[in-house]
Amino acid sequence: MIMSGLMKSLTFVVGMTIFSAALIMAFEPPTYKERLSAIGSTDELPDSLQLALTIDDFEPIPDSRPGDWLAEHHENGQTFDEFIQSDNNSPDKIRNVIYLQPIGQFRQGQSPSLDLLREYAAAYFVMNVDILPATVIRRLDLTIRLNPYSQNRQILTGDILRNLKSNLRGNAFCVLAITMEDLYPDPRWNFVFGQASVRDRVGVFSFARYDPVFYGESRSSRYQELLLRRSTKVLVHEIAHMFSLAHCIYFKCVMNGSNHLQESDSRPLSLCPVCLRKLHSSIGFDVATRYHRLQQFYSNVGFIFEKDWVTGRLRKIEGLTNEQD
Ligand SMILES: [Zn+2]
Ligand SMILES: [Zn+2]
Repeated sequence: MIMSGLMKSLTFVVGMTIFSAALIMAFEPPTYKERLSAIGSTDELPDSLQLALTIDDFEPIPDSRPGDWLAEHHENGQTFDEFIQSDNNSPDKIRNVIYLQPIGQFRQGQSPSLDLLREYAAAYFVMNVDILPATVIRRLDLTIRLNPYSQNRQILTGDILRNLKSNLRGNAFCVLAITMEDLYPDPRWNFVFGQASVRDRVGVFSFARYDPVFYGESRSSRYQELLLRRSTKVLVHEIAHMFSLAHCIYFKCVMNGSNHLQESDSRPLSLCPVCLRKLHSSIGFDVATRYHRLQQFYSNVGFIFEKDWVTGRLRKIEGLTNEQD
């Protein structure tokens, strides 16, 4: 799940990167002062927003281990002030709908619920999110191959992105294709989790490799929860990139880059204060309203850790006591 500082001009590819042997400076987690400066001055903000961005309520990013994203990729981070000064994509009166485009089948029991994905993204960004009618793979002009090693079917991402771009609706802020099919970006590559173009506001992501069956393992009794958690996480991470948010190097955050499934599983679903402030400035939602919607969602789907976390944030922002909720 990568995003470079050049994100507006580049197409970016997600996962399964080809690493060079170049020496990469070891990642040093930012100091307290650097994290504070990444949030930016909050003096002029309303009290509730200041409380929502309190640095001490958020866990700093941990050291990276060999094989982790920041051990392999040098990233400078993107402070709130840098984000504001950049030519970032933001929704406006015309382009304000996030579209999800399912490609191929989403079989019940094996795939995440499209309705829940839509509901989650709508709560997360406090925007309208619509699901477009699912497209049938054979009706699209897509390049398909059998992976030379595993022999599983894979679709060429560039064909999907071209298709999305040429069908972009006038009111689309962005369109994200989602699929249970495996993907590849180039004949030389083994596979890719996804690919997107911030400039064109289109992306495609596969959930195929979030299923243990893909690796010949069996699904646990909590498979649906695991799949929903992984799918919602990648979905909001990638949609946030469409708002020109770069990867986060300051706190534990859904916008942290990840190089492998274990790393992305350890990444939270929540936004740190730097990234929350960026999205807030772009979309203009009420932070408490957003947390209430997320609290409802987490409660409905049984994401207990996340529900408790959001409840804690609401207590802080709204000054609630333990007895009141
Ligand atoms: Zn990313
Ligand atoms: Zn962040």
